[in-house]
Amino acid sequence: MWYAIFISAIAMTGIIALRYFASSGAFALATNFRKPGYHSNLGPQIRREILWSLASAAVYGIPAGIVAWGWQERGWTQIYTQWDAMPLWYLIAAPLIYLVLHDTWFYWTHRLMHRPKLFRTMHAVHHASRPPTAWAAMSFHPWEALTGAIVVPALVFLVPIHIASLGLVLLVMTVMGVTNHMGWEMFPRRLVHSRLGGWLITASHHQRHHEEYRCNYGLYFRFWDRLCGTDRGLSERI
Ligand SMILES: [Zn+2]
Ligand SMILES: [Zn+2]
Repeated sequence: MWYAIFISAIAMTGIIALRYFASSGAFALATNFRKPGYHSNLGPQIRREILWSLASAAVYGIPAGIVAWGWQERGWTQIYTQWDAMPLWYLIAAPLIYLVLHDTWFYWTHRLMHRPKLFRTMHAVHHASRPPTAWAAMSFHPWEALTGAIVVPALVFLVPIHIASLGLVLLVMTVMGVTNHMGWEMFPRRLVHSRLGGWLITASHHQRHHEEYRCNYGLYFRFWDRLCGTDRGLSERI
């Protein structure tokens, strides 16, 4: 049993590392087209971003691997695979619930990590990227990575979700994690500056967090930032 859990954790770590190289690599290439030369003198920083991200892959991979094993072998979790096990609308509602809960967790833990003592031990690594690049998506100190690594493995025990909807959550998580750091806005201006856009976090919003630190703490939605008066709007530099 322990051997199977170990293999599952290693496999998950490998999958997350490959996902990182594929997603960050693709958007780094796109950045090269969009902003030629943006990366040119960031070589040493990007190397550090990749090393921290690989450490994070293990921190994410271990709990994910344990839970994936328990799901397959012990019937743990509320992940389901039959399309009609829940109403069809729930296929879309579940990812929204996951994103809102993850966003809430992220906002408060992130805000806490901006207190001076916690900042130095947990969060300074992430802000060492100035400006961040697509490779910074998982560039966290292991303590910070741990706060993110437990979210989805905990939620699958609490909130039922179809395996495909869970895939959608992971896709959104990956794409937004990468693109929010790449230094340019990929969404059309019309959306970003629309009423709906005013509630969503994309690169222009998170970039401002990296410029000013003590604002724009959210992950997917601006709800908490707006409610708590920490929303300073979009970066003017990208
Ligand atoms: Zn960031
Ligand atoms: Zn921060």
